[in-house]
Amino acid sequence: MPDVRNCRRCGKIYSYIGGVPLCNECKRQDEEDFKRVKEYLYDHPKATIYEVSNELDISVQRIKNYLKQGRLEIIGDEGNLILECELCGKSIKTGRFCEECTNSLSRDIKSTVDEIKKPIYDNSGRKLHGGMRYLHKGDK
Ligand SMILES: [Zn+2]
Ligand SMILES: [Zn+2]
Repeated sequence: MPDVRNCRRCGKIYSYIGGVPLCNECKRQDEEDFKRVKEYLYDHPKATIYEVSNELDISVQRIKNYLKQGRLEIIGDEGNLILECELCGKSIKTGRFCEECTNSLSRDIKSTVDEIKKPIYDNSGRKLHGGMRYLHKGDK
């Protein structure tokens, strides 16, 4: 069964194949716009997000998405107030999290993995190999 979804942008139904939740048409448009942003920044280095948005008629939100995807980076001031870490709210230049949060996030992920890897023992000290066990409710 194909994974059929509504395009996040235009609402059209399409079969989802992973990645950005957009239909082919919008994905193509998105790439096209990204190329224009890239070219604009090439000609106008240090242009602000608002300038790019006005000049190219692409919403600030969409440009922010490119930043969050790590495809663009803000240069200059630390306190740009354009893009914020989704965890602590600190100004960042690219991606979704600041460096500190990225570090603590990967630590968290690691400790979760360690947690999962830890062997589980049942009441009598026997090692259980993950998963579930069937409870024999009727047994004596
Ligand atoms: Zn679409
Ligand atoms: Zn942060």
